[in-house]
Amino acid sequence: MNMFKLTGLLAKIKEADLPEAAELESVLSLESSDDLNTLFSFADLVRHEFCGEGIFLRGIIEFSNFCIRNCFYCGLNKNNLKIKRYRMKKDEILKSVELLAARNIKTVVLQSGDDSGIDVLWLRDIILEIKSKFDMAITLSVGERSFDDYKLWKDAGADRYLLKIETSDKALYESAHEGMSLDNRIRCLDDLKTLGYQVGSGNIVGLPGQTLKIIANDIIFFKERDLDMTGIGPFIPHGDSRFSNQDIGEALLTLKTIALTRIVTKNSHIPATTALGSLDKDYRMDGLGCGANVLMPNFTPQPYRKLYEIYPGKRCVDEPVGACNFCMDDMAKSLGRFIDYGIGDSLKVGRYV
Ligand code: SAM
Repeated sequence: MNMFKLTGLLAKIKEADLPEAAELESVLSLESSDDLNTLFSFADLVRHEFCGEGIFLRGIIEFSNFCIRNCFYCGLNKNNLKIKRYRMKKDEILKSVELLAARNIKTVVLQSGDDSGIDVLWLRDIILEIKSKFDMAITLSVGERSFDDYKLWKDAGADRYLLKIETSDKALYESAHEGMSLDNRIRCLDDLKTLGYQVGSGNIVGLPGQTLKIIANDIIFFKERDLDMTGIGPFIPHGDSRFSNQDIGEALLTLKTIALTRIVTKNSHIPATTALGSLDKDYRMDGLGCGANVLMPNFTPQPYRKLYEIYPGKRCVDEPVGACNFCMDDMAKSLGRFIDYGIGDSLKVGRYV
């Protein structure tokens, strides 16, 4: 596409209250390196304008790999009998939070499979203890729960919740999730917003059967929801899941989705995901260069880290806790940016203060 025409289209998409799916689809289908450079530079400028040069850190602790679901892409699926299951003890979780605080990281993401063995009060006590000891935001990412569970944890001090929609397309959603419904996923996102959580969602790029039109509609979904955080990662097949023989998601399409999401949502936090760093090479720098502004260092201690195998080849599984920090400082510097050690709340002005 002619550079002026493409820049004009991107500017139109940026200014639209709700962009047109066909226009997003045409951008997702761009292939020439000139077009891609124009797209990625435009997205980087939007990131600069709405998010600044700071890269926020979210330290993640994957505290349980038990799961009652059968998501056809995920290695934690309940039918995977090969995986050794674990649930970290309260003291182990708090020790990991302490390590994270010692690295000056001010967001902890407590993530797990959809683990029905997690007692709501047990998790509430952990939230209370973290909040009493540390100046730290807490993001929960423990899957689909009831309004009352979400409320209990919000009242205890949880600040944010991450629940990826995975795909906004009902048929595709149902083809990848046994016995689950998109409606309930959306009900959860509604509940979380009602309760005042900063809400993160997102999709998987490259799910079997996904089309560019579906991805375009995902981006419109992100815009309509006005998400505080939007996580976009490539599909990586896991050998012990239903989708084991499917093709891996493309890095380039993932980067195009990140870039367009930045242009459309403007100031949603967008992580350069671990999955993006776990392909044939580490594409997180590319992600940071086309719209992403968040990194997620892993603070899950061994031996658990190796066991949280949602997909194979996950990066840094053998590294000691905290090693990511140095690496992330270097990544920021080489992009002429910096790690922002602030709390990194939502950039949606006025919503949470
Ligand atoms: N149980 C919680 C939930 O459902 O939101 C959080 C844990 S779940 C393992 C975290 C995320 O991992 C999912 O939202 C999904 O996007 C991602 N994921 C799982 N398997 C994947 C795969 N094979 N490739 C890429 N992403 C995957």
